[in-house]
Amino acid sequence: MTSKRKYQRNLYRQVLIADDDIINREILRNMLEDEYDIVLASDGQEALDKIKENSETLSIALLDLMMPGLTGFEILEKMKADDRTSHIPAIVLTSEKSAEVDCLKLGASDFISKPFELPEVIKARVNKAIELSEDTHIIQITERDPLTKLYNDEYFFEYAHEIDVRYPEWDMDAVVVNVNHFRLVNELHGRVYGDEVLVAVADSIRELLSHIEGIAARSDADNFYLYIRHQDNTEELLHKMGEGVRHQMERTSIWLRMGIYDYTNEKIDVEKRFEDALSACNTLRNNYNRYVAYYNREAHEAELLAEYLINSMEKSLQAGQFHVYYQGKYSIQREKPALTSAEALVRWIHPERGFISPGSFISLFESNGLIQKLDRFIFREVASKIRKWKDELGYSVPVSVNVSRLDMFENDLCQFFLDLLKEYDLSSDDILLEITESAYTEDSEQLIKTVNELRSHGFRIEMDDFGSGYSSLNMLTMLPIDYLKLDMKFIQGMKDDDKSASMLKLMMDIASHLQVPVVAEGVETESQYLLLKDLGCDIIQGYYFAKPVPVDQFEELMKEERNA
Ligand code: C2E
Ligand code: CA
Ligand code: CA
Repeated sequence: MTSKRKYQRNLYRQVLIADDDIINREILRNMLEDEYDIVLASDGQEALDKIKENSETLSIALLDLMMPGLTGFEILEKMKADDRTSHIPAIVLTSEKSAEVDCLKLGASDFISKPFELPEVIKARVNKAIELSEDTHIIQITERDPLTKLYNDEYFFEYAHEIDVRYPEWDMDAVVVNVNHFRLVNELHGRVYGDEVLVAVADSIRELLSHIEGIAARSDADNFYLYIRHQDNTEELLHKMGEGVRHQMERTSIWLRMGIYDYTNEKIDVEKRFEDALSACNTLRNNYNRYVAYYNREAHEAELLAEYLINSMEKSLQAGQFHVYYQGKYSIQREKPALTSAEALVRWIHPERGFISPGSFISLFESNGLIQKLDRFIFREVASKIRKWKDELGYSVPVSVNVSRLDMFENDLCQFFLDLLKEYDLSSDDILLEITESAYTEDSEQLIKTVNELRSHGFRIEMDDFGSGYSSLNMLTMLPIDYLKLDMKFIQGMKDDDKSASMLKLMMDIASHLQVPVVAEGVETESQYLLLKDLGCDIIQGYYFAKPVPVDQFEELMKEERNA
């Protein structure tokens, strides 16, 4: 239809003249027939029939107001109510000035008063009405989706921006509506039915928009965008909308799902808000219990950051952006606390992100296997530093490294350490291995095998974060370990006489039962230190004695210690 109408612009246009008075009909016919293709009707019903019949080719209808059968009013009304004819402009022929307002309300474009004016005037009026309607039509077909008559993307965003500019005080929600399993609908029931579904969704969106200020578009396929003014019951309204459609869709058991980016963050670009509403909507893809999802900025940003960190890990590793910090451990059951060893803690100093704490990447790297690479880099780095200290300072302290549970499942872990010792001419006393307690509870058989293998080569194992996992006492007695490292929460939660102090005592009792020395970490105050000393704790690590520091600072610490 569209191409036909455009084509007509340069050729004959078709004009319907409806008047029961033959003289009037003939006058108008005479005036217009040089330029237009004329269709005549002599009563209301005939006029309406011919309008319908020629709905695709008719450029305009000239309607006498008073005709037998149907009046001009009634024809206008019926034309506007019918999708096939509503686009056809109409000019009313009347001698009654008083009828003009009513005709306008019904959508008439203009009037020609009787008796008729000069032919030039009438021709000009007809021509103008046709052109106006054709222009409007062209605007409509470019800004609207032909199937649903909702806006298309491009115009939708333009109007959304306009709303933001014109009504800055409105709180707007960006909503994406999607038909769940729409592809299935198409495949099972055919495209024609699929189109019907889309039109039904569009209709229920239009119904919604009659209650809320806003605009809507069909973006692509089965994605609909709504930019609507926030109301407290938005979700309820959306629910109703979904219900309305579902009713019609019972046959296919489809439903609507929605992603909402709510008004609380309007400073973000409207396009971006819809992108995020869409990703919220997509999280519901296989969810049968929920149909509305809100975009959660923080979760999404965390996801993006995680992805970024994963992608830049290897490059960072090669570029030397992972550093080892060293935190001293102090032996306290003697007159004066003395530095006895250290823990190697990784630090990522990223050129764009700055300082990234291991808390935000270790478990991330554990979830995709990158941790083994990183840890082996750290192990090697530590070994090379111990060698350097021995050579340059003439002495060194043992350094413990954190061994991820994933490292423990690599068959060649023990061999790797042995090769490392050989390469740097070190002994198994130089490197301690920290393994977190929770690793033991996962696949303890495999883990214990690896621990036994390492211990048989002289490596000493510290059970890290002891008390945070779920080891049973029974299991503990069977575990091959050399040190217990208390979880920080026992120390940090400790106030002089409360429950956590007694928990701490209990942990110390377990350790003495197992006959292994206890390391306490996270010691920040003198009173914590004194209490731990009192309880018989052997080694202490924490800000109270030393923070994790870069290697050169740690070297200074070692020098001081030796001179003390
Ligand atoms: P963790 O093994 O339990 O390490 C102790 C954490 O406590 C470290 O955090 C350390 O900086 C911090 N800390 C030490 N003293 C104090 C204190 O007095 N107060 C407080 N509030 N904190 C203290 P960090 O360096 O952020 O490391 C976090 C976790 O990341 C480590 O917990 C460890 O599980 C893991 N990690 C660190 N480096 C590596 C590594 O090279 N490989 C692997 N696999 N994991 C590592
Ligand atoms: Ca540790
Ligand atoms: Ca720990």
